[in-house]
Amino acid sequence: MRLGIFGGTFDPIHLGHLVLAEQCLEQCPLDEVWFVPAAQPPHKLAATISPAKARCEMIEFAIAGNSAFRLNTIELNRTGPSFTVTTLEQLKADDPSRELFLLIGADSLRDLSHWREPARILELATIAAVNRGDRPLPDLSGLRASCGERVDNRIVTVTMPGIDLSATDIRRRVADGHRIRYLVPRAVEAYIHEQGLYRDRGNIHGEADNL
Ligand code: ATP
Repeated sequence: MRLGIFGGTFDPIHLGHLVLAEQCLEQCPLDEVWFVPAAQPPHKLAATISPAKARCEMIEFAIAGNSAFRLNTIELNRTGPSFTVTTLEQLKADDPSRELFLLIGADSLRDLSHWREPARILELATIAAVNRGDRPLPDLSGLRASCGERVDNRIVTVTMPGIDLSATDIRRRVADGHRIRYLVPRAVEAYIHEQGLYRDRGNIHGEADNL
């Protein structure tokens, strides 16, 4: 099985994430995409992130009706920071016949050389680098320097329409009392309002400035 792994905070999942996953499914092509919410992303402050249960329920609502999309909670069942390399090792060990594809925004590709064990990540998975709109592909020289020339045949490029949206934008809009209709699936919008998520402005910025 050709399996796409899509990790993120998903606080909340939004249209940008869903279009990215669907385009990878078609263009790679993949049999399935698994959404893997991070427990404690190494670069974000845990205290500012919504509980895993809420993030998972929103993913479930968002992917309902797409038989190729699944939620996978592998990173939530581990303690400590969620390192991608550990997740890929575990998913490969569970079923060695899986061909893994790691779905990431092309803008994050530049950072891959700073992730834990980038060379091992490239052994375990093909990178599906998703380019938004007409942006040029990022410079891979840093990645080549740390992982060698094999980088070039371990990366496939996927394109998607540019959707200039982030989970931070959604949280900010909710905190400011603005509408989020069509930016997230209808059921996710209803869930956010029912649960009273993101009303507190203190949780808008997920980025840690001391990590
Ligand atoms: P936050 O604003 O909280 O940082 P985010 O919207 O960037 O969140 P994450 O869960 O951190 O979402 O990102 C998971 C992945 O989704 C990353 O690989 C990121 O590049 C990608 N991504 C996020 N927003 C978009 C978008 N609008 N279009 C395409 N890819 C996106």
